[in-house]
Amino acid sequence: MATAILLQPRTPPDYHRIASSKLTIPSDPEVSIPVGILACDPLLRSLDTTVVSATIVQPPAAAAEKSKKATKKAVAAPSLPTEPLLHVQLHDTVIFPEGGGQPTDIGTLTVKADGSSWEVLQAKRHGGHAVHYVRVKGDADAALKAFAPGTEVTVALGDEGYERRYDHMSMHTSQHLLSALLETRLDVPTLSWSLTTYPSPCYVEVPRGLTAEEVLSIQNEANRLVFEGRKVHVEVEELDNSAEPTQVQKTESGRAIGKALPEDYTGGVKRVVVIDGVDRNPCCGTHLPSIHNLQLFLLPHTEALSRSSTTNARLYFLAGPRLITYLTSTHNIAARTSAIMSCGPPLLPERVSQVVEERKKVEKRVNDLEAELAEQIAKTVLADQATKAGEGLVATHLHRVEDSTNALGFLSSVASAVSSKAEKYLSSRPYLFVLSSTPSTQTQNTSSVVLVIGSDDKIVKQIGDALKVKVGIKGGGKGPRWSGKYTGVWKATKENTAIADVLNEMQS
Ligand SMILES: [Zn+2]
Repeated sequence: MATAILLQPRTPPDYHRIASSKLTIPSDPEVSIPVGILACDPLLRSLDTTVVSATIVQPPAAAAEKSKKATKKAVAAPSLPTEPLLHVQLHDTVIFPEGGGQPTDIGTLTVKADGSSWEVLQAKRHGGHAVHYVRVKGDADAALKAFAPGTEVTVALGDEGYERRYDHMSMHTSQHLLSALLETRLDVPTLSWSLTTYPSPCYVEVPRGLTAEEVLSIQNEANRLVFEGRKVHVEVEELDNSAEPTQVQKTESGRAIGKALPEDYTGGVKRVVVIDGVDRNPCCGTHLPSIHNLQLFLLPHTEALSRSSTTNARLYFLAGPRLITYLTSTHNIAARTSAIMSCGPPLLPERVSQVVEERKKVEKRVNDLEAELAEQIAKTVLADQATKAGEGLVATHLHRVEDSTNALGFLSSVASAVSSKAEKYLSSRPYLFVLSSTPSTQTQNTSSVVLVIGSDDKIVKQIGDALKVKVGIKGGGKGPRWSGKYTGVWKATKENTAIADVLNEMQS
């Protein structure tokens, strides 16, 4: 019997390359290793380490509101509670502090002495060091005590944290590949990029739209490199703080982009991410050690931005777990629609446009027939009244049971036909017609519509008022027309009788 053995992927030993003889990774457990050479990049899931410092911090009240506004589509950092938080610096960590357009990781800290587990809600870079934002359990002083300097802890991503990070790393590494190809093959720089919330496609913003051919050529080139399995590694050296600071370009959201370091990046290391033979780019994010698993899918057109002052456009892309999720959901949508339309997915556009065309024709036919029917109804009801003897007010009620999408519109057509023919059929006798319509199935929430027309505005108003009071129809009107709505079950024995009584009263 064959047995499959799942190997935990490990970061290759040559992933981190120290490019300077002067740079050493601090081994003193009382010293915090600067961001850029932390163990968090990229595949380690948990690590035993020690606490360097811990403080209790009251989050500013406005912080939550501010972060909501700043990031529209980009991944929002997990929200922080309003209670005090524990800020913990460790000697080393597997929890990535947000940076380089990549959001924060989440995870846990377990105190080795008592096995207590603490939730890491966010990690942020303070200067050149990672700070873990830990949820305080119970008393703040006790929490502070649990994380006394030198305390041995296990820092871990956990399954949820690793899945989140694996997705972020996949999209981030693909972004490097995509931006490099756009730049070198099409001379199109990346102005910014957004790591959107899973599972939406991420995008790069570029200064102009791209043709479908350009998009396809970049996708083909990227996937050729993916097939080759180009390796990724990082090169680190000490940060030269004496050098002139490079101007950091920023996007509207204030995110630093391009080949420079953030202004507040102090005390860390200089770090360049290299895709073999493709790209070298300063970046503090986490990246997969190879692009071999990162089949790239580019949405086949760029999206022009609505801002009129710019020709900037967005190119959306998918890779890794998001690509599989996207394929699954688009497949399911196509399969469900195919089942409804009884055809294979390739025929869907044709079948759907057929149905839309047919529907337009049917709608026109229904409109024509309704107009003809309205004329016919008007003639019948008028002819019927004309045969009745008398001199005074002609008053009658016509009730219809029908399932129309626009019942009031149809009654309106009947009413117009009645008023245009009244003179011919009724000579100069005053008239009053109540028209009503109810759907064939009714519940307590069903609406029936009522329309009144008459030769005398005053009588129309009078009957409208009476219908409100005696039948419970809500409505109003102007001049010779009054319309209203009845909610509930319309019964011939009740509502029709009540209307007949109102009309009889009017006539006498
Ligand atoms: Zn990066």
